[in-house]
Amino acid sequence: MKKYPLVVIGAGAGGLVVAIGAAKAGKKVLLIEKGNYGGDCTNFGCIPSKSLIASAHAASALKESKSLGVEFPLPPFNANPALERTRTIVAEVRSHEDPAALTKLGVETITGQASFLDSHTLFVNGEEIWASKIVIATGSSAFIPPLSGLDKTPYLTNESIFHLKQVPESLAVMGGGPIGCEMAQAFQRLGSKVSLIHTHEELLNREEKLTQETIAKQFEKEGIALHLGVHVTQVNYANDRFQIALDNGKTVDANALLVSVGRRPNLAALNLKAAGVTYSDKGITTDAYGRTNKHHIWAIGDAAGAPFFTHRAENQARSVLTSLLLPFKKKLDQAQAVPRVTFTDPEVASAGLTEELAAKKYKIAAYVVPFSVLDRAITASRTEGFVKVVTKKWSSQILGFTIVGPRAGEMLGELSLAMHAKIPLRKLASLIHPFPTYNQAIRKAADLWLTQTILGVFRRAKK
Ligand SMILES: Cc1cc2nc3c(=O)[nH]c(=O)nc-3n(C[C@H](O)[C@H](O)[C@H](O)COP(=O)(O)OP(=O)(O)OC[C@H]3O[C@@H](n4cnc5c(N)ncnc54)[C@H](O)[C@@H]3O)c2cc1C
Repeated sequence: MKKYPLVVIGAGAGGLVVAIGAAKAGKKVLLIEKGNYGGDCTNFGCIPSKSLIASAHAASALKESKSLGVEFPLPPFNANPALERTRTIVAEVRSHEDPAALTKLGVETITGQASFLDSHTLFVNGEEIWASKIVIATGSSAFIPPLSGLDKTPYLTNESIFHLKQVPESLAVMGGGPIGCEMAQAFQRLGSKVSLIHTHEELLNREEKLTQETIAKQFEKEGIALHLGVHVTQVNYANDRFQIALDNGKTVDANALLVSVGRRPNLAALNLKAAGVTYSDKGITTDAYGRTNKHHIWAIGDAAGAPFFTHRAENQARSVLTSLLLPFKKKLDQAQAVPRVTFTDPEVASAGLTEELAAKKYKIAAYVVPFSVLDRAITASRTEGFVKVVTKKWSSQILGFTIVGPRAGEMLGELSLAMHAKIPLRKLASLIHPFPTYNQAIRKAADLWLTQTILGVFRRAKK
C-alpha cells in the first residue's frame, strides 16, 4: 500500500492551493482528482461564465453604442463562436492545472474517484492509499429539484451549458441567484430569448432591495421575461421544446432549460461514514481551523458548505496549508466578511450585512450615493448604479456595503479593506479619490456621515 504524509482530494480552487503550496514547501503530497483538474471554477464555473460574459459585453456594447453617439449599421448577429471561445479559454486555464503542470511543481497526482475505507485509508482506482493527513476539497454540484417530469428532459446545468455548440433560440433559466442572473443576461445578449423563473419575488434575494430593483429593471430593459414569485409545477420536453408549467397558470416555452437553483456539496462518493467524519447535506462540519471531528482530516471550500466562492475556498486553503506546514495551527478567517460579486451588467459587489439585517442587530445608518450624481457615470451614460454603505450609526464602523455599477467587483477593495481593518467610513472622506472615477461615490458616501448623521442632529436640535 502506498503511504503519504498528505493527500488532498479534489483538484479545484481549494485543493490546488493546498497541494501546490505543500509541494513548494518540500512536502510529499498526493492529489486525487476524479477527472476535471481545475475543479468547477475552471471547467464549469467562474472561467467559462466570465469568458461568455466578456463576449456578451461586446455584443451589448455594439447595440448600446448608438446611445453614446456612435452609429453604424449592426452586422448580422452570430454569437456561436463565443461558445467555442469560452472552451478555448477554459482549456488554456486548465493547462496550468493539469497533471503535467502539477508534476512539474512537485505534486503527485492520481486521476480517479476517492472514497474512504477508514479514517486514514482511501480507495482509488482499485488501489488502497494510506495518508497521515487528508484534506477534502471536493467542491459542490448543481442541485436538481425533484420536479415532476424534469428528470425525463435534456435540461442543462452549469456542467453542460458551456458545451453548447449554438446559442439557443430561446432559453429558460430556473433560478434567479447569481449564476442564474449571470447566465440569463449573457445568453439574452448573445441572441437567446431568455425567460427567468424564480421562486422569490426578488432576484438575488440575499442582496439589498435597491440592488434587486436595479437588476430587475435592467433585465426588463434588455428584454428578459421575468417570472418572479412562482414555482414550477411540471416540466415537459417534446419536439425539441421545453414546456415549463408554473403555479400561476402560465407556461414558459423554450428550446433549452438551465437549472440553477442552488448547490450541494459533493460528499456522496466519499463514504465519509467509513472515516467517521461528521457532515450534513449542507457540508462537512469543521472547527475554527478547518479540521473535521477527525483531527487529521480537514475540509475546505464548497465541500465544507456555503458560501460557495473560489476566493473563500482559496482563503481557507491558505489557512489550512499554514497549519499543515508549521508547528502551530492557524484559524480560518471567519470574522472577515466574504465579498460577493455577481457579474451581471451592472455588476453587483457586496460584503457584510444588508441594511435590513444590520438593523436587527445594531443602531445603524445607511448612506446611498446614486451614480446619477457622479460625473464619471454621467460621462459614460452609466447612471443606473449606486454605492450603499451600512454603518453603526455614530461610529460609522462599516457593517456592510453594496456597489452596483460597471466593474463594481474592482471597486470593492477599498470598502472591503476598511471593513476588515475597522477603518470607520467617515475616515474615507479625507482620502483623496481621483476625479472623475466611480470610486468617488465611496468618498461621497463617507461625506454623508457628516451631512446626514452628525449635522442632521444639529438641524433637528435647531428646529
Ligand atoms: C456557473 C458558476 C459560476 C461561478 N462563478 C464564480 C465566480 O465568479 N467567483 C467565485 O468566487 N466563485 C464562482 N463560482 C463558485 C466556484 O466555482 C466554487 O466556489 C469553487 O470552485 C469551489 O472550489 P472548491 O475547491 O471547493 O471545489 P471545486 O473547484 O469544485 O473542486 C472540487 C474538485 O473535486 C473533485 N472531486 C469531487 N469529488 C471527488 C472524489 N470523490 N474524488 C476525487 N475528486 C473529487 C471534482 O471533480 C472537482 O474537480 C461559480 C460556480 C458556478 C457553478
